[in-house]
Amino acid sequence: MPEAPQMQALAERIEAAAGGRTLKRIEPMQFAALKTFDPDPMSLRGCVLQSVGRRGKYLVLDLGEGLRVLVHLSQGGRVDIEDQPKTTKGKQNVVRFVFDGGPAILIKEWGHERKAGWWVLGPGDNGPLDGLGPEATSDEFAEWVRTSTDGRRVHTILRDQRTVAGVGRGYTDDSLHRAKLSPYASLKSLKPDERERLITAIHEVLANGLERERQRTGGLPNKLGDGWVVHNAHGQPCPVCGTTLQRVSYESYEVTYCPTCQTDGKVLADRRLSRLLK
Ligand SMILES: [Zn+2]
Repeated sequence: MPEAPQMQALAERIEAAAGGRTLKRIEPMQFAALKTFDPDPMSLRGCVLQSVGRRGKYLVLDLGEGLRVLVHLSQGGRVDIEDQPKTTKGKQNVVRFVFDGGPAILIKEWGHERKAGWWVLGPGDNGPLDGLGPEATSDEFAEWVRTSTDGRRVHTILRDQRTVAGVGRGYTDDSLHRAKLSPYASLKSLKPDERERLITAIHEVLANGLERERQRTGGLPNKLGDGWVVHNAHGQPCPVCGTTLQRVSYESYEVTYCPTCQTDGKVLADRRLSRLLK
């Protein structure tokens, strides 16, 4: 799933391509993907794209006069930036925004569950943004990490968008590896220096991710490419110590970690498997 660095860099590319241009046409192609009914999306025609930003994993298109369009790509949502608007109507197409003089922004969907969605928000309406926690690199979140007695695992906390916005499985695995913390560690069990390591690791991992994502051109392709350090790299040597990276199933996710760097050499039990064996 695209996370904050992918979405931030994508927002910058969309703004560079279409910022300042007038929205000429909207072509919705999957009606379930539109999560709002008022304002009517067709009322956005003629609006000028003021800027494109990001909040959490949402793209935020500011169309002026308080009108905004949000896009959430979820698991399989992707984006084409078409220099010249196309007229293709593939079944994976979700919606196309066509701007005066070109280009067009096409939202596509390659997943089957947790599909991409979009929202049209009127003045003062934050829609789903209201439910988001602070940004992962904000001072507010850092202060929360320093002081919280949350008993959940850090891995769970970082993926919970209501607690902290913008991080998913990929950058969670990499942040915990960089901080040398076990994926099974609970936040309340962390000492002050471990909490500082976690905060620093999140900042560095997201900054590195953004730097990498800014090399990309065009939209966001189906295969995001493997920019992660340990996520999805189980079986390969840890880039820090050379130990073979392990994976463990946890809350229906595969978590990748280094036993030497993160768990004092312990290989974590696969809870799902050990339950089956009982
Ligand atoms: Zn290691």
